[in-house]
Amino acid sequence: MHVLIVEDEIPLLKEVRSYLEKEGFICDEASTGKIASDKLFSNNYDLLLLDLGLPDYDGIDLLKETVANSKNIAVIILSARSAIEDRIKGLNFGADDYLPKPFSLLELKSRIMAVIRRKHGIKANILQVNRLQVDLDKRVVTYEENTLNLTRKEYDILSFLILNKNRVVTRLQISEHIWGDIIEENYNSNYIDVHIKNLRKKLSEYIDGDFLETVRGIGFQFVEASQE
Ligand code: CA
Repeated sequence: MHVLIVEDEIPLLKEVRSYLEKEGFICDEASTGKIASDKLFSNNYDLLLLDLGLPDYDGIDLLKETVANSKNIAVIILSARSAIEDRIKGLNFGADDYLPKPFSLLELKSRIMAVIRRKHGIKANILQVNRLQVDLDKRVVTYEENTLNLTRKEYDILSFLILNKNRVVTRLQISEHIWGDIIEENYNSNYIDVHIKNLRKKLSEYIDGDFLETVRGIGFQFVEASQE
């Protein structure tokens, strides 16, 4: 989950970032509207946390820009409690939720999880695919009573593929979602293959069949139907 945090109060920005990183999110940050606008243009984020009161930009304009350019991004507005007008405007212009300041980090996380669930049309933080279960909140995958011993990246890739099950997910989407900025040095396509190979091996202890399909030249697909 690749998140852009737009906030000009630097201590708050850092606090939110370090909390979300601990919770397994890949974070990027912008302290001005200009930086945010540039980053939104050149990256694909899953989620935008947007402070409306920015020094150089009207947050609502940034919201409009974002929603017009990126259909799949989820947006949560962070703004002062008194600004009811902003809240209504934000929701009218396509934000998914609104969190008044000051907020607790726990509440922020539960709002994020709720927005992600809505985007993917799921009702709980537990994804069930036949006998495989993904706990999005605890970041744990189980098969019946067995907990799969996954690395952080393996979990990220598997949960992302399962969230998008029966759809082809491209290598680019995986790298942006799991590693963030694709220009970063740790982006390497072979990297994905290594993780997929390890995932297949770990899953094959429990499940028969090639449910984790390679779509040649494009990416991967988690196929629900072929799972035993
Ligand atoms: Ca502000």
